[in-house]
Amino acid sequence: MKIDGKTRLVGILGDPVAHSLSPGMQNAALASLGLNICYVPLPVEPEQLPEAVAGLRAMQFRGANVTIPHKIAVANLLDSLDVSAVRTGAVNTIVNNDGTLTGHNTDGIGFIRALAEVAEVDFSEAPALILGAGGAARAVAVALAENGCPRITIINRTPDRANQLKTLLVSEFPAAEVTVRAWEDDLGEPLAQNRLVVNATSLGMKSNLKQAWAGVDKLTASHVVCDLVYSTKQTSLLTAAKEKGATLMGGTGMLLHQGAASFKLWTAREAPLDVMRKALEP
Ligand code: NAP
Repeated sequence: MKIDGKTRLVGILGDPVAHSLSPGMQNAALASLGLNICYVPLPVEPEQLPEAVAGLRAMQFRGANVTIPHKIAVANLLDSLDVSAVRTGAVNTIVNNDGTLTGHNTDGIGFIRALAEVAEVDFSEAPALILGAGGAARAVAVALAENGCPRITIINRTPDRANQLKTLLVSEFPAAEVTVRAWEDDLGEPLAQNRLVVNATSLGMKSNLKQAWAGVDKLTASHVVCDLVYSTKQTSLLTAAKEKGATLMGGTGMLLHQGAASFKLWTAREAPLDVMRKALEP
């Protein structure tokens, strides 16, 4: 990659960001198309988010990704929001057009495209159970509802957040049936009723996702089980689901496709998926 006086920057705002795979993936894609843009990690503590966003504008960044814990807070600091950000209430991509910062959310489309790579899903016939009610869960729930998913069950440790997500979904998608279940509930029955099972909590390899295992015996080969945690290793949920013969989707596919959608927003070019996929290999 050549850096010169005309190089533009994009980056990723988060806390922490040192572990992020996005710089490697995005720089590989930018270099492969010969674009004079460089993607940099931007560690930003929550109280400094306003200054960081002002800095993107001041330093004429082409845009940025936004990750934990800023996805919701950043929305109030931007000039406008795309419908994808309005519907999810969260921003994972900022585009800077001549000093006007617009927030987008590519997590939902990333999830749908990653899912399409592992399973043929008729969403109108695919009720879904989502563990979690944070930014990723919101993006997935909205994407599923947009694609015609008729019933969505939300389970979250903090019931208030699950109820907030339910309110959002019901107001945007009145036809969808949305149910909230307690984290402590026996998950057997809701698991049995749903075709798609999505872990959108930040619990991945850790054993304390055990509560979710309560229903794992009900998983069958007809379930599609998605774990959004980025990991090159199989998470414990996916390992358990594999034993049942379920179809599996790990977090890397969604990372790839949300990144590809962000890439297109910044560059107006189709993302080189093969290059990006290769860059994500361990
Ligand atoms: P977030 O907004 O901080 O939400 C975190 C979620 O995890 C909340 O539902 C939270 O529940 C739950 N949680 C956290 N600790 C928990 C615990 N000890 N027990 C039970 N639940 C717990 O984060 P996010 O942006 O939604 O991200 C969630 C996960 O998705 C992360 O692992 C992230 O890396 C992953 N992700 C992956 C992709 C991808 O492209 N693959 C994209 C986005 C996110 P409470 O509401 O009770 O706190």
